[in-house]
Amino acid sequence: MDKKIAVIRGDGIGPEVVNEAIKVLDKVAGICGHRFEYTDLLMGGCSIDAYGVPLTDETIAACKASDAVLMGSIGGNTSTSPWYRLPADKRPEAGLLRLRKSLGLFANLRPAMLYKELYRACPLREDIAEKGFDMLIMRELTGGLYFGARHTEEVGGVMTATDTLTYNENEIRRIAVKAFDIAIKRRKKVTSVDKANVLDSSRLWRKIVDEVAGDYPDVSYEHMLVDNCAMQLVKDPAQFDVVLTENMFGDILSDEASMITGSIGMLSSASLNETRFGLYEPSGGSAPDIAGQNIANPIATILSAAMMLRFSFDMDREADMIENAVSKALAGGYRTGDIMSEGMTRCSTSDMGDIIAKFCG
Ligand code: NAD
Repeated sequence: MDKKIAVIRGDGIGPEVVNEAIKVLDKVAGICGHRFEYTDLLMGGCSIDAYGVPLTDETIAACKASDAVLMGSIGGNTSTSPWYRLPADKRPEAGLLRLRKSLGLFANLRPAMLYKELYRACPLREDIAEKGFDMLIMRELTGGLYFGARHTEEVGGVMTATDTLTYNENEIRRIAVKAFDIAIKRRKKVTSVDKANVLDSSRLWRKIVDEVAGDYPDVSYEHMLVDNCAMQLVKDPAQFDVVLTENMFGDILSDEASMITGSIGMLSSASLNETRFGLYEPSGGSAPDIAGQNIANPIATILSAAMMLRFSFDMDREADMIENAVSKALAGGYRTGDIMSEGMTRCSTSDMGDIIAKFCG
């Protein structure tokens, strides 16, 4: 199969980790007879340096002309980099927000998985961590409180701020369909998280999720209140498979879920639109503190590339190859500095890419 991949290496460690993901993709393509054609694009700080803006119209058009986007991360040191002396709409992150909007990316997927080899990095009690967990948080990305009307005014001499949380049934249905579609490819369980005991938007959320669930008799599902979910994530994370939720709840719960995995360098992510198109990137930032030293962990980006194969290209076998190769590298004791522990073999960013590529074969 031939696929066109837009590649945004970005800033900081972005180029280092993306290079390793491409190394692994090329290995898998060679084995399985695929051809991946890469188009290099600039976004973020490097685009500001080259073009004076964090994202150009040409970059957006090139992404749209591709089958998927593979991205590193963007941005620099927010205290010292000259990029952060620019107005807010000219800074690196403005490019990412505009790109997500231009591509209609409404579903954000963040897997949180605890590899048994890394369970000591998990901050939870040993008996909980030992069981491991493997969940995927599916967060609605373009609606809800972050996009509703807001204003601040003086009411009767008292400053008063108002934010509005709006969802319509179409927005809920399309993300629920994505969650159930993905659950079918996993352990076939959806936990839909809301605050239906208080919020109208959550009651509509529940009603629409019930309707969508009717089309997926093989997927078990449950509703859970967000406060309970926050507790369950630290009490018994192994119970979750796909966690479906709205924008703000997802923002908070996905960070909570990522913390219990122990390392940001392991966490992949995907943002999808209504077609099979998606943008795939590590959950962490550009890590300017370690950039250019060949010590960053490339696994989050390599696993993001595996998600691209699975969700945008329907290449499940190839995605499995990469995910199994990551497991083998960890089982073999190979570690970058962020996940290093006693008795393990420390390796560089490029060593880790080589080892994972080797285990794909
Ligand atoms: P960060 O995630 O870049 O770094 C936080 C800590 O995690 C640092 O100590 C860093 O060294 C470490 N870390 C992150 N990724 C790692 C990896 N792959 N391997 C080993 N260690 C890793 O967060 P920050 O320092 O708050 O942000 C730095 C810059 O990244 C900022 O400009 C921020 O705006 C940007 N950022 C970009 C994105 C994105 O591109 N989507 C996301 C978050 C932050």
